[in-house]
Amino acid sequence: MQTKASVDTVSGTKVTVVGVGQVGISIAFSIMTQGIASEMTLVDVMEDKLKGELMDLQHGLTFLDNMKITAGSDYALSAGSKLCIVTAGAQMREGESRLDLDQRNTNILKDIIPKLVQYSPDTILLIVSDPVDLLTYVAWKLSGLPKERVIGSGTNVDSSRFRFLLSERFDVAPTSIHGWIIGEHGDSSVPVWSGVDVAGVRLRDLNPAAGTSEDTENWNSIHRQVIQSAYEIIRLKGYPSWAMALSVSVLTRAILNNTRNVYAVSTFVEGIHGVQYPVFLSVPCVLGENGITDVIQQTLTEDELTQFQKSAATLNEVQSNLVF
Ligand code: NAD
Repeated sequence: MQTKASVDTVSGTKVTVVGVGQVGISIAFSIMTQGIASEMTLVDVMEDKLKGELMDLQHGLTFLDNMKITAGSDYALSAGSKLCIVTAGAQMREGESRLDLDQRNTNILKDIIPKLVQYSPDTILLIVSDPVDLLTYVAWKLSGLPKERVIGSGTNVDSSRFRFLLSERFDVAPTSIHGWIIGEHGDSSVPVWSGVDVAGVRLRDLNPAAGTSEDTENWNSIHRQVIQSAYEIIRLKGYPSWAMALSVSVLTRAILNNTRNVYAVSTFVEGIHGVQYPVFLSVPCVLGENGITDVIQQTLTEDELTQFQKSAATLNEVQSNLVF
């Protein structure tokens, strides 16, 4: 068979995923099945795992839109990536403090981020590793990239859990419910009860106390369930992966296809909602080919603002103790 001369081109929709643990590989699979990227590179420190995952994914390509997949520990493979997704992370050791773990994860990013930016100087970074808000700040500092090109997966998945739980109570599809969780991805996340609506009908117009301590309908139990669900999934199956993978693949689609959809992602919030610290927290953001183009400033209640600002102050304190 006659073959064409090979021309090496840099694809406009190349994605790199760093870390092929449970979360990273689920994200890679989700991106692959949705046909979002033309090229995908997987990077990790575990060569055998990389090779096994690569073969397993490649053998499924016959059933999908074709794409090029490569894998290895050499960051040169990531060259020309439009988007780099970072899921590499260390797990907590027995007796280790939260700050020690934060420092270890910071050290992992010190290894990864400069290499990604070296090979893809105009890339957009999407950080998934936890604690995601803190590590997005660290990645921004290490990368030297403009802040709109460094994004944390943030509370996009928390908002999805919120909308799903609301959908069960309303008996309406989650996609038809507007509901946002903002702030820190984790225990101090802020549910924006004042903004929950279906087709413009606000929950707070039907029940002005919804989500407050005076609420006899106990809507706030849904937020408690959102916070607990990550712990519950870890207890039941060991790690959360599928919802996270879908959440990250829609963010990937928005960036690669310049869709300008609005998602709750972690971004630089100094000056937003009265925050006076250089921290990253989630707010609804418009996503496109240049990263975050706009932040949607919701009208928050006094209570929601206080919770958001408290998260920012706590995060700033932890951040100032990190060495990098
Ligand atoms: P995992 O332990 O299964 O995988 C981590 C991977 O990172 C491993 O394959 C490991 O080899 C790799 N790695 C470690 N150091 C590396 C380095 N220097 N360079 C390249 N690769 C390296 O963990 P997981 O369950 O896949 O979770 C990954 C991260 O995502 C964790 O930090 C976890 O807490 C976080 N997470 C975040 C969310 C979120 O909503 N933001 C949700 C779930 C998990």
